Amino acid sequence: MKKIVTIGEIVVEIMATELGNGFLEPIPLVGPFPSGAPAIFIDQVARLDQPCGIVSCVGNDDFGKLNIDRLKADGVDTSAIRVIPEYATGSAFVRYREDGNRDFVFNIKQSANGQIGPAPEVDALFDSADCLHVMGSALFCEGSVKLSLQAAEVIKAKGGLVTFDPNLRKEMLDLPGMREAMQEILSKTDLFLPSGPELSLLTEAKDDVGAIAELLSRGVTAIVLKQGSEGASYIDARGRIDQPAFAVEEIDPTGAGDSFGGAFVTCWLRGEDPAASLRFAAAAGALAVTRKGPMEGTSRRAEIEAFLTERA
Ligand code: ADP
Repeated sequence: MKKIVTIGEIVVEIMATELGNGFLEPIPLVGPFPSGAPAIFIDQVARLDQPCGIVSCVGNDDFGKLNIDRLKADGVDTSAIRVIPEYATGSAFVRYREDGNRDFVFNIKQSANGQIGPAPEVDALFDSADCLHVMGSALFCEGSVKLSLQAAEVIKAKGGLVTFDPNLRKEMLDLPGMREAMQEILSKTDLFLPSGPELSLLTEAKDDVGAIAELLSRGVTAIVLKQGSEGASYIDARGRIDQPAFAVEEIDPTGAGDSFGGAFVTCWLRGEDPAASLRFAAAAGALAVTRKGPMEGTSRRAEIEAFLTERA
């Protein structure tokens, strides 16, 4: 079976239990939960029984152990997660506003994650991989940018695939070197999975139609556009398939895109039909929003299949 690898941040997430603005006053918190976009993505892949692994760094602390234990238990190859005693595991604090937006306090670059870089275990993981999934959020430090580009070369040279979710807010594009790094990854991307406005963010186009034409002409084989509760679409040179979102009660949107992406990339790599893959991934995304906690939203194959049978 083909193996999917990703690179990037592993954090614990600590969430506010009440709505509000920022963290300037004391509020009840709940956590820690295993998290980090690449970690959630790869956990979803593992829960579908697809071989997979992640390159990352954690500290020698309980937060690191929490993450490694969870990923291992779900079947992720954790051999390229380095434990770095001099640094702490990354963290993210989240608070939800009344209007649905979120405030974050991140400790990623200054944590063990900032030490992501080359190692013999990392090379071994790339050599065993058939697909690299890049998360834009993981391009926060030079080490992970270099590794992502190296992995893309190694995997493409042996006929493998590169998938790319920009997973980015506009402000992040202003980080030094970020735009260039994203463009380089995009130039090697087979499957692009943007959310809403990310579709045109890395193009010269003025609208979505222009952005799609530009992306396909630059070598992207297929685009999967995620639009939250509005659903998702699959677009390639042959046309477009739309998949409405399943009606569910949203409890926590964090991780929906990562769960959706993990499910779609797994189906795509297995050569499954795009319409069926889109439906399967939409079910994974819908299930993710019904559960509190970022990685708690990932689903096993049987859960997704049962959901789809119920909604047929
Ligand atoms: P991202 O988190 O990357 O921005 P989205 O929020 O678009 O990704 O979520 C990915 C997919 O998950 C959506 O295309 C949809 O299929 C599903 N999804 C997300 N939010 C909901 C929701 N509130 N109800 C049902 N499905 C949802």
